[in-house]
Parts: sequence; C-alpha cells; structure tokens
Amino acid sequence: MTDEDDTMLNDPDRQRLLDAARAAQARAYAPYSHFAVGAAVLDDQGRVHAGCNVENAAYPQGVCAEAGALSAMVLAGSTRVRALAVVGDGAGLVTPCGGCRQKLREFAAPDTPVLVGDRHALRAQFTLAQLLPDSFGPENLSS
Ligand SMILES: [Zn+2]
Repeated sequence: MTDEDDTMLNDPDRQRLLDAARAAQARAYAPYSHFAVGAAVLDDQGRVHAGCNVENAAYPQGVCAEAGALSAMVLAGSTRVRALAVVGDGAGLVTPCGGCRQKLREFAAPDTPVLVGDRHALRAQFTLAQLLPDSFGPENLSS
C-alpha cells in the first residue's frame, strides 16, 4: 500500500476526524430526540469537513450529521471521501444509518474507513463495504 491508498488512515488523521466529529456533536440541534451526533469526513486534499444532526419539528425533515459533513465537503470543492468518522453517545455503536451509508457511497470507495466513536474513544472501525455490502454506486451508471 502507498500513502495514497484510500484504506490508509494514519493516527493524526484519525484523531483529526474524531476531534472534528466531537466538536460537531457539541453543536447538534436535537431538541426532540436529545440524541446528538457529529460526523466528519476527510477529503482527497486532506481537509476535514464536519456536520451535526439538525432535527425539525416536522420530524422527517431532519438531517443526519453525515449528510451535513458531505454537503460541507462538496461545497468546499471535493467529491472524494478518504475516511469518515461518526460519534454519538449511548451503549450501542452509533453507526451511519442506512440512508447515510448510501449517501457516503456516492463519494467513497467500498474500502473507505468508517470510524465509529463517542466523546471519549474510537469504539469500532469498519469499511464502507462492511456497512453497505454489494452496494450500488456511481459506477453502475457510467458507460
Ligand atoms: Zn443518517
């Protein structure tokens, strides 16, 4: 493997992602569920983009933290995710929801690392393919 390999994620980048996701979690707007989530993506230029969940009184209109992070990345001019981190509290792992796994797939290869943590620690690491096996992606529509 080389440093350019998508599966490589060094310790400083891992920490940057978790720190950014935790800072975003602290800004979550979750007055209904009181379940704050933060996410951060590392793009192909080494930049980190974060997002938090933003709930809505019309519940289905709320958006996930991962969606916010991906929007920030696209706005900043990148469409390539090298790694994603998501953090939330509670006993269970706060992994990306099904919809966010597909949203991430648009910009991330199947071997992209997905870090799952909380305020204190990295709790698990997956690849996108583990979370979304045999996925449908942009390649399916390219001729
Ligand atoms: Zn989601």
